[in-house]
This record gives sequence, structure tokens and C-alpha cells, in this order.
Amino acid sequence: QTTTKPPPTPSPLRFSKFFQPNMRILVTGGAGFIGSHLVDKLMENEKNEVIVVDNFFTGSKDNLKKWIGHPRFELRRHDVTEPLLVEVDKIYHLACPASPIFYKYNPVKTIKTNVIGTLNMLGLAKRVGARILLTSTSEVYGDPLVHPQTESYWGNVNPIGVRSCYDEGKRVAETLMFDYHRQHGIEIRIARIFNTYGPRMNIDDGRVVSNFIAQALRDEPLTVQAPGTQTRSFCYVSDMVDGLIRLMEGDNTGPINIGNPGEFTMIELAELVKELISPKVEIKMVENTPDDPRQRKPDITKAKELLGWEPKVKLRDGLPLMEEDFRLRLGVSKKI
Ligand code: NAD
Ligand code: UDP
Ligand code: UDP
Repeated sequence: QTTTKPPPTPSPLRFSKFFQPNMRILVTGGAGFIGSHLVDKLMENEKNEVIVVDNFFTGSKDNLKKWIGHPRFELRRHDVTEPLLVEVDKIYHLACPASPIFYKYNPVKTIKTNVIGTLNMLGLAKRVGARILLTSTSEVYGDPLVHPQTESYWGNVNPIGVRSCYDEGKRVAETLMFDYHRQHGIEIRIARIFNTYGPRMNIDDGRVVSNFIAQALRDEPLTVQAPGTQTRSFCYVSDMVDGLIRLMEGDNTGPINIGNPGEFTMIELAELVKELISPKVEIKMVENTPDDPRQRKPDITKAKELLGWEPKVKLRDGLPLMEEDFRLRLGVSKKI
């Protein structure tokens, strides 16, 4: 039996029983690193229409170039701190700078994006009856005193530090999500994302994996911030996108940790990058920034049980995929 694709449905017919309407999905921050990979995956489904809104602060049109002009795709320059009127069925709300150097650059804007931006997207979800997923962060656990972090841990966050615009901003965003859920019955999903890496990361955004790979390719020393024994757990972006879609499509509000439990010290990460990419490169210890969490590793029991999800790509296998993309963008070919 063959299935024929229904024509795009004009809005008055969206609820007609004779038409199976496409699913309209809004992705805020869709021109960014994780957002653009999410868009790629959503666009694979012919029943999805994807609308991206982005202010291009840290994202770029380049990340979406293969979809520009596609009949099921639309890209709008828009800042989520302003109200937005669109008719959609689902909202993936990612808009927010994620790298410390960018979110600290204009902290007031960062907190506005997290608070007013999330409020606007919730107001939109309420008006149109859409389900909304927030990409929260492992930073809500602050400098955690519980290890590994479970979703029930309330965190250890400095409310007045240089990271607070992001950490506390995301904590308020989570609160808003639950208040709209309880007060207005909005369908919500919250993902607590742990450090994610992969192709299309901003080359100079200061995050550790992108820094080390760019440094290795430029023959510059890998800058390990002291003491270097602090840990992070790195999730490859395709695993992350898979987890986000499962969360959106499942029945659980979350919050649910989505991350890879493989935990590494920054010295171990530098050594791995050195081994895989540039065995001669030097490793240099440099000064750290304030409030740097000393350890971070997700407990993903909930994601496994409730979403049937666990990451597949090991750091050792993911780094070379990112190296390839960075080589192309930096114009550094592999020496044979
Ligand atoms: P990114 O910086 O690549 O993407 C964020 C996107 O949001 C960019 O395209 C940027 O231009 C856009 N944006 C920022 N402020 C905006 C505003 N006011 N209005 C409209 N668009 C705006 O970052 P990413 O790594 O892709 O992160 C995406 C989401 O995932 C963020 O919400 C981030 O907090 C969350 N997250 C990411 C990580 C990670 O390791 N990458 C970890 C935890 C949480
Ligand atoms: N909002 C939006 N798009 C919509 C509906 C609402 O951007 O389609 C914004 C609206 O401007 C408001 C926020 O979402 O600032 C919260 O909306 P809500 O209706 O919950 O609250 P109210 O407008 O009553 O303060
Ligand atoms: N880091 C590092 N060298 C760098 C950049 C970061 O050693 O060039 C360390 C940083 O001190 C932190 C860890 O890497 O302990 C992760 O930092 P990143 O900014 O990537 O993410 P986040 O702090 O948000 O987890």
C-alpha cells in the first residue's frame, strides 16, 4: 500500500477531519549548535514543518543553509524577549547563549532571555495550546554537593556570581514552566542538558572541547584551566538530539537529565585530544574563572527508564567527527 502525502493545509482546514495536518514545530535558537542539529532531525520527517526564530547572537544562518528555501522550513530573525505570534503545535525552546564567554558578555540580556524569553514562549504555548520543551542545564546544580547529579537534587548555586545570569536564569525558567503547567495546564517538558559537543560548535566560543580541538589544529597549547582535576561529562550532539525528541514525544514533564555519564577531568580531556589529534601539542595550565563547578556527571536512570534513552557515542569516537568539521572550517587539512 502506498501512502500519499497530503497537501500543505491552509489554517482554516487544519482541524478538518479530511486533512491530516502537518505538525508545526517552532525551534527557538534553531540557528545555534544544538538547535540546528535538532532542525536537521525534525526536517527528516515529511510531516513536520519547522519554524526557527533566532536573533543570531551566537547562532548563524550558515548552520541552516541546507534548509533555507525548503517549503516546510521558515527562518525568522526574532528576539524571544519580544512577544511572538505564530501558530504552532510544539515548541522547542532553546534560545539562550550557552557558552560562559557569551552569556557573561551581557549578563542582563542573558537573564532577560531566560526569564522574559521563556515567559513569552509560555504565553504563546498557552494561547495556541502547544506543548513546550525547555532546554535547561546541568548548571542548575551549580557546584554540586551530590555526585552524580540526580534530578531530585536542588543544587548549590551562587545567586550573585558571574554565572548566575545563566544558572539562576535557567532555574527561574524551570519555575515558570512548572507554574504555567500547574496554573494553566500547559504541557511542558524540561531537559537538563549536560555538556554537549559536536560539529558546528562555535570555533571561538571558549567552551573546553571546541577550545582544545581548535588549539590542537592551530598548533597552539591546550589551555587547561587550573586545577585541571575538575570534571565534566560530554555528550555527542546526535545523542542529545535523540534524547530531546524522545522527551518531547513522551509522557513525562521532567526535569530529566540528558547527558553522557562518561566523566573526565580536564587534564584527561586534553590528553585525549592530544593523542587523537596532535600528539606533539603542548598542554598548558592557565588561570580559571570564578565559580567553576568542580565535578559534574549526570545520573541518567530517569532518562533510561522513562525515555528508553542512553547515549551511544563515546568521547573517543565523537571527537574525530568534530575534528573533521573543525578542519574544514579552519582550512587545516590532515597531514599524512
Ligand atoms: P548556541 O549558543 O549555539 O545556541 C543558542 C541559540 O540561541 C543561538 O543561535 C543564538 O543566536 C540564539 N539566541 C540567543 N539569545 C536569543 C534571543 N534572545 N532571542 C532569540 N535567539 C537567541 O548554544 P547551544 O549549545 O546550541 O545551546 C542551546 C540550548 O541548550 C541553550 O538553551 C543552552 O542553555 C542549552 N544547553 C546547552 C549545553 C551545551 O553544552 N551546549 C548545555 C546545557 C544547556
Ligand atoms: N505572548 C507571546 N505570544 C503569544 C501570546 C503571549 O509572545 O502568542 C507573550 C505575551 O506578550 C506575554 C507573555 O507571552 O508577555 C505571557 O503571556 P500570558 O498570556 O501568559 O500573560 P499576560 O499577557 O496575561 O501577562
Ligand atoms: N576549561 C578549560 N580550558 C578551556 C576552557 C574551559 O580547562 O580552554 C574548563 C573550565 O574551567 C571548566 C570546563 O573546562 O572546568 C568546562 O568549561 P566549559 O566552558 O566548556 O563549560 P561549563 O563550564 O559550562 O561546563
